[in-house]
Amino acid sequence: MTIRRPVYFDSHATTPVDPRVLEAMLPFFTEHFGNASSTAHEFGLAAADAVDGVRRGVAEGLGAEPREIVFTSGATESNNLALRGVAEALKKRGNHIVTCATEHHAVLDPLVRLDRHGFDVTVLPVEPDGRLDSERLREAIRDETILVSVMFANNEIGVLHDVAAIGAVCAERGILFHTDATQAVGKVPIDVRALGIHLLSLSAHKLYGPKGVGALYVRRSEPRVRLIPQIEGGGQERGIRSGTLNVPGIVGLGKALEVALEDLPEESVRLAGLRDRLRERLLAELDEVVENGSVEHRLPHSLSLSFGYVEGGALVNALREDLAISTGSACSSEDPEPSHVLTALGRSRELARATLRFGLTRFTTIEEVDFAAQRVVDAVRRLRSHSPLYEMRER
Ligand code: PMP
Repeated sequence: MTIRRPVYFDSHATTPVDPRVLEAMLPFFTEHFGNASSTAHEFGLAAADAVDGVRRGVAEGLGAEPREIVFTSGATESNNLALRGVAEALKKRGNHIVTCATEHHAVLDPLVRLDRHGFDVTVLPVEPDGRLDSERLREAIRDETILVSVMFANNEIGVLHDVAAIGAVCAERGILFHTDATQAVGKVPIDVRALGIHLLSLSAHKLYGPKGVGALYVRRSEPRVRLIPQIEGGGQERGIRSGTLNVPGIVGLGKALEVALEDLPEESVRLAGLRDRLRERLLAELDEVVENGSVEHRLPHSLSLSFGYVEGGALVNALREDLAISTGSACSSEDPEPSHVLTALGRSRELARATLRFGLTRFTTIEEVDFAAQRVVDAVRRLRSHSPLYEMRER
């Protein structure tokens, strides 16, 4: 069987649109092109009906109510709306927000801005396995704390936080809990009520849906979460997020989530099997490899390994034609900054840069996994064969 190169292993960055999702979306570009707010005629009504259906589906998928789902342009916007919206709404009650060091920039950067503008943000470290200790969270909470934001699953190391424990600590102290679940939705089961989540961000393009569409879950009872809108205009989405709805995108999000949840039990077992095959082969054939993040509490399709005694840039170059894969650096410039997630786990700059983040997709085959394993083994061995440091290492 021939393998089309480069093989895609970057599903934390994005996923291809599933053909079933594309098929569901297409009529909403052409036949049903109406504005979902134009409910005076059938074009608008068809669009509004479709949006309502997706709202019900997304709500059901998360254990929420349809009126608790706000459609957005993606997780970056959902995170900004949640963090800034809550901060603005609750600023009279308190100014303290708690988050953790391994969050995505779409959480950290809005919080940096809030910190500059009168809020006090505590960034908690993570344990060596990448998880936040909920006891540490409990100790960080003060009388002025209004919000805790901790991601469901990390986008670089795939680690799943103990969201139930974090939710319980927040509930005990009567504090709102936001989770950036961009990497987790459709990959692991989520029930917002059972987990004590008050706000949850998600994005369609991480679950085989289109780019540029997502949602924010905002709890409307026990307690009712108040949010100050960050985008104002036509009053769509109950005034929480104005702007003409991206109907084809929303339909795509709905279909993507439906397919993902339907296939979740089978797909997560299958992908974890393929991921473990890749992991075991790399760990068996190469020494001086460090695995990043908890093995037990991890997304099924995710693997992050750091390769000692190789230079990150050289490793990426060696693999470029064969594998589409991300490394442990923020960008691919000449002197890339190592990822803040890997340094938070205690990795050195060099080791962080020599990291590969493997993200399998639902379309990844066993042949592709074996091909990837072989290419990585060959590349690392070849690079190390030129390394005096590797030769001289202490064994
Ligand atoms: N949060 C996490 C954890 C992510 O992985 C991403 C995407 N890289 C985002 C937020 C941003 O999502 P979007 O692309 O939908 O804005």
